[in-house]
Formats: sequence, C-alpha cells, structure tokens
Amino acid sequence: MAKAKKGAVEIIALQCTECNRRNYTTTKNRRNMQGKLELKKYCPHDRKHTLHREAKVK
Ligand SMILES: [Zn+2]
Repeated sequence: MAKAKKGAVEIIALQCTECNRRNYTTTKNRRNMQGKLELKKYCPHDRKHTLHREAKVK
C-alpha cells in the first residue's frame, strides 16, 4: 500500500446500508470532513442506488 502522509487523510470503504457489501473505496480528509460520510451510490448487488456509509479498511 502506498504510504500516506501522516495525519489528515485516511482511506475508507463505502458500505451499502442495504446488503452491507463494500462496493467502493475513497479517501477522507479528517481536517475538513467531520462525522460519518454517507453517499448515494450504485450498488451492483441491489442493482440500484442505495445509501452507502463509510467503513474502516483493514
Ligand atoms: Zn447493496
């Protein structure tokens, strides 16, 4: 994995709130994004747009 600069940016997964699959990964800057990230994204499993919530990436 590429080394990230210490601190602000972390990699997160976007997890479907309907089937709990992790369909996307993205990055989040903790300095300017507070709280949980929630996005409407297309879920290939549900075959529709669902709400995706951030989850930890191991
Ligand atoms: Zn889903």
